Amino acid sequence: MIDLRSDTLTQPSAGMRKAMAEAVVGDEQKREDPTVIALEERAAEQLGQEEAVFLPTATMANQIALRILSEPGDEVLAEATAHVFRYELGGPAVHSGLAMKALPTETGIFSAEQVRDAVSLPGDLHTAPTRIVCFENTHNGGGGRIWPLDHLRGVVGEARRHGLNVHLDGARLMNASVASGVPAADYGREFDTVTLCLSKGLGCPLGALIVGSRERMAKARRMKHLFGGAMRQSGIVAAAGIYAFEHNVGRLAEDHEHARRLGEGLAEAGLPVDPDQVETNFVLLDVGRLGLPADEAVARLRAENVLLSFASRKDVLRAVTHLDVSAEDIEQAIERIPRALASTDRPVELAADAPTPC
Ligand SMILES: *Cc1c(COP(=O)(O)O)cnc(C)c1O
Repeated sequence: MIDLRSDTLTQPSAGMRKAMAEAVVGDEQKREDPTVIALEERAAEQLGQEEAVFLPTATMANQIALRILSEPGDEVLAEATAHVFRYELGGPAVHSGLAMKALPTETGIFSAEQVRDAVSLPGDLHTAPTRIVCFENTHNGGGGRIWPLDHLRGVVGEARRHGLNVHLDGARLMNASVASGVPAADYGREFDTVTLCLSKGLGCPLGALIVGSRERMAKARRMKHLFGGAMRQSGIVAAAGIYAFEHNVGRLAEDHEHARRLGEGLAEAGLPVDPDQVETNFVLLDVGRLGLPADEAVARLRAENVLLSFASRKDVLRAVTHLDVSAEDIEQAIERIPRALASTDRPVELAADAPTPC
């Protein structure tokens, strides 16, 4: 089976497991876990901020960020398919009492004009005051697209002109950095808070970080405890994060190369894939243009032993490369995917569980 559903599927490698087994640990809640502290220091530096807080998931990191940057009744802007809006169960409303205003785009990359047009009028007694703009880099719903740094700075500048706070959902920021050559810190320091996920392409079993100023991270630490995320000997997991920073960042280039090869191979086979849009480790396949509903396409692919997931747009599938996908797997996928989608005679059992794009 060639499993291209998500980079969340990565298994901790032998080297990572060894680092975890040998980790020196202590009571994290008492700030006595040296491995957690070392990971936090490293993450803050890598992401261009003063301090980091280690968390179990990037969802929690995003939700804590929104909470500490707003008051109940405020409004948060994000792209329409942003993870914080689509895949966090309405968390901004539940945890922070936020109204959510979606900015529609094709690629996940919105403009300064869209921010300016969306901001509620200051002092208007009838609208929720806009308080936060949330960015996502790379953009999952857009197909792993990268925010060019200059464009990003322009949009952040627009948000700042309106006195807004800015959060970066950088779950895959390292993919954006490796693919663009822009240091992650150059992206990171533009923001008030940044999320990084360790359990996607970086290959950890779990873990995430939120970074920001000392003052904000003191609030984030409090929220971590309040949300039930304060742990104990979590250095055992933080060790995987340190290992990932040391061994699994540069190699993301290999995943990007595999995605590029897959995109080109599928396009050459005549499938509706635009290789020019493959910027990192995602390949989008617009099966709707073949007249196939997404669930039927997924079932046909499974019959050929290839697993893909739904993308955020209707009748578009997503292939995601990661460290457990080899060059040979990619060559196999380039043969199997066109064959699976061309065959019409095989009886197809539709999946009961939708492979969501997370
Ligand atoms: C996966 C993902 C998250 C959430 O990560 P978890 O660690 O699974 O909670 C947040 N944002 C984006 C863009 C993601 O792709």
